[in-house]
Amino acid sequence: MESALKPDFQFLDEVESHGPFEAAACYQCRKCTNGCPVTFAMDLYPDQVIRKVILGQKDDVLRCSTIWVCATCETCTTRCPNDVKIAEIMDCLKEMAARQNIPVPQPQARILHQTFLKNIRRHGRVFEGELMAEYLITSGQLMPKFKDGTLMDDMKLGINLLRKGKMPVIPKIHKGRKFVSEILKD
Ligand code: SF4
Ligand code: SF4
Repeated sequence: MESALKPDFQFLDEVESHGPFEAAACYQCRKCTNGCPVTFAMDLYPDQVIRKVILGQKDDVLRCSTIWVCATCETCTTRCPNDVKIAEIMDCLKEMAARQNIPVPQPQARILHQTFLKNIRRHGRVFEGELMAEYLITSGQLMPKFKDGTLMDDMKLGINLLRKGKMPVIPKIHKGRKFVSEILKD
């Protein structure tokens, strides 16, 4: 016989201590999940993550791929009728998982996050051209992409962005760089 689920609200308190995120206000309407553009790649839907946070199923949420697949687009947070900060909870869970060295189901997602943060620390804001090049190198995708020809597609896209002025060639150094770097330090 399956044992009854025993909710443990300590984890909810731990998550909320980084907030407030108002997770307990969730009434499972699923508006967050229905608006999320990347549920096809998730192993738990956003509403399920929130439910598991409330019930204290820490292992499930810190080991799921959802928190790393989340694109932080904020659609869920905007749609939530109860002002639950779902996107922010995803970020918080990512950070908790990283601090506990929990293996990431998609290691490349973690490399992208680390490269992104390093880039912002360096310039005070993101410098897209350098970010993508650094990510391709550190994630080990440069050679495979060169061999299968997709690197050329990426370069064409980059050139189009450059032509349209959507991607600067020289990074703009933010005057608050040191301050930003201090906020994002390890
Ligand atoms: S939209 Fe808000 S209330 Fe509805 S399931 Fe998602 S988190 Fe819960
Ligand atoms: S922030 Fe994440 S979970 Fe929320 S809608 Fe966007 S991708 Fe989905």
